[in-house]
Amino acid sequence: MHPFFKTAAGWLLTALSLAAPLAAAAQKKPVGAHQPAANAEAAIRESDIRRDLFALAGDHFRGREGGTLDELRASAWLAEQIRAIGLRPAGDDGTYFQFFQLQRTRLTKASRLSIGAHQLSINHDGLVYQPVNAAVSAPLVYAGTATAAELARVDIKGKAVALLFSGQPTDGISFRRYLTATLRDKSAELVKAGAVAVVFVSDARAEAVFEHWGHTYERGRYGLPGDPNLLVLSQAPTVWLPASALDWVQQAGQQFVADLRVETFAYPSVNVVAEAPGTDAQLKKEYVLFSTHQDHDGVRAPVAGDSIYNGADDNATGCAALLALMRAFRQQPARRSALFVYHGAEERGLLGSRYFSAHPTVPQAAIVAVLNAEMMGRNAPDSAALLGAVAPHRNSSDLVNTALAANQAGPRFKLDAEWDKATHPEGWYFRSDHLPYARLGIPAVMFTSLLHPDYHTPRDEPARIDYPKLANMTRWMYLTGWAVANRAQRPAPEPGFQLER
Ligand SMILES: [Zn+2]
Repeated sequence: MHPFFKTAAGWLLTALSLAAPLAAAAQKKPVGAHQPAANAEAAIRESDIRRDLFALAGDHFRGREGGTLDELRASAWLAEQIRAIGLRPAGDDGTYFQFFQLQRTRLTKASRLSIGAHQLSINHDGLVYQPVNAAVSAPLVYAGTATAAELARVDIKGKAVALLFSGQPTDGISFRRYLTATLRDKSAELVKAGAVAVVFVSDARAEAVFEHWGHTYERGRYGLPGDPNLLVLSQAPTVWLPASALDWVQQAGQQFVADLRVETFAYPSVNVVAEAPGTDAQLKKEYVLFSTHQDHDGVRAPVAGDSIYNGADDNATGCAALLALMRAFRQQPARRSALFVYHGAEERGLLGSRYFSAHPTVPQAAIVAVLNAEMMGRNAPDSAALLGAVAPHRNSSDLVNTALAANQAGPRFKLDAEWDKATHPEGWYFRSDHLPYARLGIPAVMFTSLLHPDYHTPRDEPARIDYPKLANMTRWMYLTGWAVANRAQRPAPEPGFQLER
């Protein structure tokens, strides 16, 4: 699950209750015209899932960070498992792999920043909002929480302007998104009015985010080549200071000095792709795509002496589930083909799924549905969620109803609909690999057991996973995928589908 998306505000929309479709689904009997053979569903075994998950989320793979050797080793390990299961490669050139390039920009270590007598260690004492090439030396003016009208009366031309961060997000927007938008938009206004640099000092709420984001900023920005967030700009820098700077930043007569340089790197990342060919002469040309991501956050700031972010729930659960699904489809293929895609570098911004959806190794129009597995092994044993089920996220009622019927025929999870609403501040729907496919109009849903306190910490370890629950989540995906793969018609896309951002 990707931590955070920097996009515009969501709409407030009335969300539909899942109660009605659930009740309707409960009355339907079969999941598909062709019931799977008992031995195919039995190929989904909790013991396999547990073994695979312990292997992939072990310290050996060092947290599988996108664009590193650790991600590549984990991807090669997955390909070995798939070969042993007996599925066909469906990546590039007859291999299990589709390599793509990931690009990173950050400030060089040689970059310098100071205010008056204070030398600031970049991304520790002061965060630089966007990597920019800049050489600035200008007097600093402190404007506190001045409004736009008040600022218009201050002479800021050729000056660095310091503000105290303030304000609150409106409903449906997380504080983190609000903070980022404020840094970006307020800076742009001031620079337009003639400021040569903008400095924000944290208030209490921004301070709570400051320390965590230092690590993020230090790592720089990631994207696919050509992404707008990677454009290296020569523009006025925006600097974000901790609350403790408020004392000294207000002193008159200080000089703001910045000498910032950006560096750019390219790294390989990889999607792992395999296929269980369908049995029907015509329908085998269509694909049900089972999706997940193999990367996590790698090795970073230690918590209680542990620096390996194992990503057991996020997302070794999805990876182990897909291996189990492959065993089932190997045991008994469906009429349509099943395509299995492990997306690389999801945590760096859904990069693998953005790449694969734009450059699929099968015809894009032949992908009839995407079933995405993301974080499926935590929280109450009988609870789960299907994202992409509530408008405006629902892009195929047909697919959603099939998944709800499969839940009733199989594990009967109590489904949470709150996290799928446009008003939910976490924006969960926008943070995993089904999204780029949904944006292309391909029916897509995500199977998840939602957030927990160990999310993106070194405490997300294999021992904390609920394996019986994960096996049930896998069966739910299987029954859904089996039904979709065998029915006569592909799932119908939702007319007028449009996401809120
Ligand atoms: Zn994640």
